[in-house]
This record gives sequence, structure tokens and C-alpha cells, in this order.
Amino acid sequence: MRNRQATQLLFELSKPGRRAAVIPPSDVLTDEPLESLLPSEALATEELALPEVAEGDVVRHYTNLSTLNMSVDTHFYPLGSCTMKYNPKRNERLAGLGGVVDLHPYQPESTLQGMLRLLYELQGILAEISGLPAVSLQPAAGAHGELTALMAAAAYFAERGEKRTKVLTPDSAHGTNPASATMAGFQAITIRSAADGSVDLDDLASKLDDQVAVVMITNPNTLGLFDKGISEIAKRVHAVGGFVYLDGANMNAILGVTRPGDLGADMMHFNPHKTFSGPHGGGGPGAGPICVNEALGPYLPSPMVVREGDAYRLDYDRPRSIGRVRSFFGNVGVLVRAYCYILSHGPAGLRKVSEQAVLNANYLLARVKHILPVPHGDKCMHEFVASAERLKATRGITAMDIAKRLLDYGFHAPTVYFPLTVPEALMVEPTETESKETLDAFCEALFRITEEDADLVHSAPTTTAVRRPDELTAARKPIVKWNHSGG
Ligand SMILES: *Cc1c(COP(=O)(O)O)cnc(C)c1O
Repeated sequence: MRNRQATQLLFELSKPGRRAAVIPPSDVLTDEPLESLLPSEALATEELALPEVAEGDVVRHYTNLSTLNMSVDTHFYPLGSCTMKYNPKRNERLAGLGGVVDLHPYQPESTLQGMLRLLYELQGILAEISGLPAVSLQPAAGAHGELTALMAAAAYFAERGEKRTKVLTPDSAHGTNPASATMAGFQAITIRSAADGSVDLDDLASKLDDQVAVVMITNPNTLGLFDKGISEIAKRVHAVGGFVYLDGANMNAILGVTRPGDLGADMMHFNPHKTFSGPHGGGGPGAGPICVNEALGPYLPSPMVVREGDAYRLDYDRPRSIGRVRSFFGNVGVLVRAYCYILSHGPAGLRKVSEQAVLNANYLLARVKHILPVPHGDKCMHEFVASAERLKATRGITAMDIAKRLLDYGFHAPTVYFPLTVPEALMVEPTETESKETLDAFCEALFRITEEDADLVHSAPTTTAVRRPDELTAARKPIVKWNHSGG
């Protein structure tokens, strides 16, 4: 079996007496028994059940474990909505410099000037990219940014004595949008999409009133389409006194091309792990900086980094602030990577990132649409949503089957069954860092799968350590211990 050692626990590799290192006997200790040197509660009552393994066992075990999952460093990873682009190692190295990792947030500000300057400059850079002047770096993820901005909006309306109870989100929105609205104390109401995938303006109009605090829009949206109605949407929302939230998860499509603030948005988040080469996954630490308009600025979390002459400091004197949403200054390690990524590209480079991301997605779309129809048009932004509905009807091969079988071909799966508005959805986002050769190889794999024996495809993947776990049970009752009887 491939990766035998990685599918066993380190404990199962243990052999009595095997060691990674043999430490010479101490020549410091006296012959006095340990009991006389340490209080009894500090002494173990039995030997610790630690694995006994050689250094080579440990290195192989963890190296093999690290290869059981696919990653952007090992495989093409077209997971739509997630922007799994290659993360330049330069940014990792810079974020790992002693001057960054050895800082402690409790140090006096005078000794943190370099970091505070970096964060201050990043605030300015994000304001420029978003077209929105006030920035908070505190939120720890995109979803957390949504929540924080909605809390700021709630504080804004509360201070004005306005009772606004509703937040509107399109039916194609990411699940975090209605979830954040609910957590912020609003009633989340769904707006229908029109047949072309954009927001249905009539449905929006029927739900807009002076009870609406915020309308959350993802643009480009989760179908990979730029919603041309955005300015009209913003006009109508502003007419009833509400704010427009722009979910910035898809900023990789429009960097340096247009700015949410110019489109009429009042607030937005960035996902540095998507757009600015932060590491993905693992539950964090992440970042989800937000940018808001002038009116909402005073409500942003405290503290904020400010500049006074040549010095930088944390400003806690923010009486209308919603307070803290994260300890210290947020996850600065991720922010440092974003800062390095943005500066190393520069304005023209960032625009090129988006242009290339859109070009790559359109190339893939054009190659696959004959086999996997794309219901929402022949052109896309940085991603597109294809449908396996026809394939399911003719050959019994579903979006999930394709996703699983792609693993055997050495490709991570696209996002499947999202957005909910497309049946048998396969959401493909190649990103700008992939070559034409990789995109072509991915198309070839897709074509082959659609022609393969349906039973084979149903049983895929056949080459991975874990095959097809039950989706629900795997999420609700994960078995984290390897099971030799085939789990
Ligand atoms: C990823 C994503 C989010 C949530 O961002 P996190 O950083 O994962 O919390 C919100 N909306 C859209 C459209 C996304 O793709």
C-alpha cells in the first residue's frame, strides 16, 4: 500500500527500546532518589505511553502524512470561490524573519515601530484597493470580517435611533453571508437571482424598505459573473438609507481594474488567504480585514494603528467603536504576507494578476463547456460554474463522481454543489498561477472521466488513502484514527 507508514499511527510503529537519540547519563544528579528532589505531585505515577521510534521513523511518518492531502504546492487545485493560487515562498520567508516572529504584542509601542508602520501602510493600501477609506485589520477571517462590518452598521443605526432589522443576501451568496447577518442580530432575507445569474432587481425592489440595514452582494458573484446591476443596486439601497456590503472573496478578479467603493459599496472584507497569498485552511490563523466608508469608520474595532509625525501608535480613544473583535492586532503573520505580496506586485502587477486569472478561467470554460455545460454564459470572470446535470441524465455520472475521480488523475476537485442555484454544480477557479499545460492536462482528465465506465467512476477515488467516506458522517463523526479494517 502506498504510504504504509503514513496510514499507521506513530504509536503503531513503536518498538520497545527504539530511540531517536540516546542521551548520555547525567553526571550532575546525585544518587539521591527523584522522590527526594521533587514533590510527589510532580512525579508521574506510571511511565508515559510514548511511542518508541527511531529518528528516521519520525521523519518518514510525518513526511508521508504531509503527502496524504493535496495542496497547492503539490497539485492543481481549482477549488472555486477559494482562489487556491500558488503562494510565493518569498512571503513565507519574510513573515518568518526574526524581526516579525519574535515580537510580542505586550512590548512597548516604541519597540514595535516597524510592525506598526507595516500595519499602518497595509491599512492605507487596502483603502486604496477597495476605494473605501477606513480599515480594520482585526477580523480573523472573511466571515469574521462580515460579522464585524455588520456589527459596525448595527452600531451606526442604533446611534441614530433607526430600527433596521433586515439584511438581504442573494440566493447565490456564500453561506457565511446570511450566517453573519443572523449572528449580528439581523433577520437574513434571500433575494432571488434573475435567469442570467445576476441579482433580480424586481425581487430586490419588493424587499427593500426602511427596515433594511444592509444588502450583501458578492461581485463578481459566486457564478463567476460580474453583476452589471451593482451601481443600480447601490443606488436603490442608498435610497432607502441602507448600506451595501461587498463580499470581497472574489477580489482576485478585479484587482486594479475596479474598486468596490467606486461601485457604490459602503463596506467590504478581503480574504488575504484567497487574494493575497496567505496560507489556507487548518482553521487559521487567518485574517479578514475590512474597509468601510467614512460614516462607518468611527464604529470599527479598537485599537487602530495611527501615525503621528514619524511615530506609529495604537489608538484606543475611539468612543463609538464596537470594541475588540480579536486579541491584540489580529493575526499579523498573515497580514505581513499580504503586505509583501501586494508590494512585490505593485499596482500594475496586481491588475495583471486579475487579468491573467480571468484569462485562465475563460480558457478552461471554452474548453470544457461542450462536455460540461455552463448555464450562465460563455464568458466568466475568474471562475465559472459548470453543470454535470446532462451527464448525470445520460451516463449516471454526477458532479461528486467527477470530483472524486479527478483525485485519481492527480487533480484536486473543483468546488461541487455550490452555488445552490446550479444543479450538479462544478465551480472551477484555475487562478492566474497555472500554466496552459496544466489547464490542458486538467481538461484531458475531465474529458476522459466523462467517457469512463460509470461503475469505475462511482467507486473513485481508488488511489487515495481514504476512499469515499459518507459525507455527513465524516463531518459529524470524524474517525481520526486510522482503521486497518479499511476505514
Ligand atoms: C471564502 C468565502 C467567504 C468566507 O471567507 P472565510 O475567509 O473563509 O471566512 C465568504 N464569501 C465568499 C463568496 C467566499 O468565497
